[in-house]
Amino acid sequence: MRLLFRAAMVAVLLALLAARPVAAEDRDAPAFAPVCHTTTGHDSASRAMKAPPVWICDDQAWRADQPVAWLKFDAASWQGNAPPRYFFSRTARHQGITLTAIDANGAQRSVSYVEADGEPIAAGPVFRLPLPQITADTRMVIARIDLPHSIPLLTEARLARDPENVARTQLEMMILALVLGMLVLPLLFDITFYLVLRERFVLLHALMVTGMMGYVLFAGGLISVFVTVSVAALAVLAPLSWAIGCGAALLFLSAFLEHGALDPRVRRFTFWAGCWTILVPGLFSFQLHATQAFDDLAYFLAISPAALIASFAIIHAIMRGSRSARFVAAAWAPLIAASVERLTRGLGLHTGPSSLDLMMFVATGIEVVVISLAIADRFLALRRERDAALTEAKMLEHISTRDSLTGLMNRRAIEARFDDLLVQGFDTFALVDLDRFKAINDLHGHQVGDAALIACASALRSSGDRDTVAVRLGGEEFVVLLRGLHTLDRAEALRRAIPMRIAKAVPGLDLPVTASMGVVVMAEASRHKITFTEFYARADALMYEAKAAGRNRIAYERLTVFKAAPESRQQAEDRAA
Ligand code: GH3
Ligand code: MG
Ligand code: MG
Repeated sequence: MRLLFRAAMVAVLLALLAARPVAAEDRDAPAFAPVCHTTTGHDSASRAMKAPPVWICDDQAWRADQPVAWLKFDAASWQGNAPPRYFFSRTARHQGITLTAIDANGAQRSVSYVEADGEPIAAGPVFRLPLPQITADTRMVIARIDLPHSIPLLTEARLARDPENVARTQLEMMILALVLGMLVLPLLFDITFYLVLRERFVLLHALMVTGMMGYVLFAGGLISVFVTVSVAALAVLAPLSWAIGCGAALLFLSAFLEHGALDPRVRRFTFWAGCWTILVPGLFSFQLHATQAFDDLAYFLAISPAALIASFAIIHAIMRGSRSARFVAAAWAPLIAASVERLTRGLGLHTGPSSLDLMMFVATGIEVVVISLAIADRFLALRRERDAALTEAKMLEHISTRDSLTGLMNRRAIEARFDDLLVQGFDTFALVDLDRFKAINDLHGHQVGDAALIACASALRSSGDRDTVAVRLGGEEFVVLLRGLHTLDRAEALRRAIPMRIAKAVPGLDLPVTASMGVVVMAEASRHKITFTEFYARADALMYEAKAAGRNRIAYERLTVFKAAPESRQQAEDRAA
């Protein structure tokens, strides 16, 4: 555990160090937003500047479902400041961007880029493109964006001199790095929990955390601190990891809440909603140009129900008294709130800076801490349940292997353990049968008979050593297995002890209750792979001999090589008859 903790600390430190090179906050030189925007169809094969007819000059009616989006930046914005050098926007898929500077005299300078030209900056989900030359005579800059796939690509477009004007602050990047480091810890916890508990929900939580880590890395822009990733890849990976995180959250919920906390139909619904949330929004994450007209909306519409369904399932479980659901509610409330904000922004219902995403990352950090507590809590509860079940199972097993009257091992148990006992060196099989026992029952009643059986069992058990195992096969028939030295003498001693023990325990019997014994002593019994049934048949035949010879005696044989049991006298007579 200490090792895991150290690994997590190192990860946090590394992430913090990685975030350090980001330049300090410098918002003196501002970033300039578009003053007007609009959309059109593909007007011509040429990507040359051709101003659209109608501009929308307020913060309304943003659309990313038309073939071309236009943004107009007014030079009046940077009057008195150094002119901007770059076009910046949020990473999202698009086909191409043409930037045109238009001077007062109508002169135009255009530069066209394809998606791959975009250069992601290492402080946010932002890419940049160099502007054509901006002079003192420049009146406006027009950006034409072909096949834009996302509204924030338009609303968050800015012209600025330096990345610092549009990027996350160092503090924001530090928070991101911290959240990323925090996510490492539960991932390690999950692995540890899984090794102990083998519960599916732990893996699903790990998947959810992985999705969140992806989101922090790709949507947070932290990945660009480490490696260079293309705009297209970033644009796909960010929503894809969010879809995986949200979907896995639902799958986790369906597996995590206690048995009975969710109505089975709600549990199934939550599970399938989780699959949907990974697959359908996951598909739209790819922002294939063929789906440009609707993929942005489709993504958000397909992913939106996840927050609703999660909230519904949690409330449903809390109303059914679920303890885990209360933990999940505490963990997810900030996350769900931040998701709803992000959703409405994604749908263009309101616009806002991408720094709002920071709420999501902080909420993610909270989620992880609280949910780790919830998993630990559930882990302990499951351990308790499991221990109780284990104790009960042991008790049941004990009951099922014991004879209820005498407490000796029963036939079922000896049959199950027979091979083991042979391997452990038990080589003597002594079958014990009380003599004329039916008469005891007939004369004194079954209760007296039972008391005699109990006394007989205690006589057979009396040696109490580990080299003697006594079993009640049924009725007044017992088996004693012995190993070690002088097994035959020890078996005979047990047999002789029976009448005295019964007489002492059950006073008032006219005659002593004796026993007959058939004993098989087998040299190297384990080597011969003899079964219980074979031993039993052999000992039974010897028992018959002892009974026939007048009872209250022992009949035995020592074997070195096992042959099939000889036909007993009774069987021979039966055959003759
Ligand atoms: P022998 O073995 O010497 O040939 O005669 P036996 O009278 O013992 O013969 P048998 O095996 O026919 O009778 C066994 C009797 O054991 C029958 C039944 O009344 C009695 N018995 C079997 N199980 C129980 C039990 O659990 N309690 C009591 N009280 N009697 C039992
Ligand atoms: Mg008998
Ligand atoms: Mg009998």
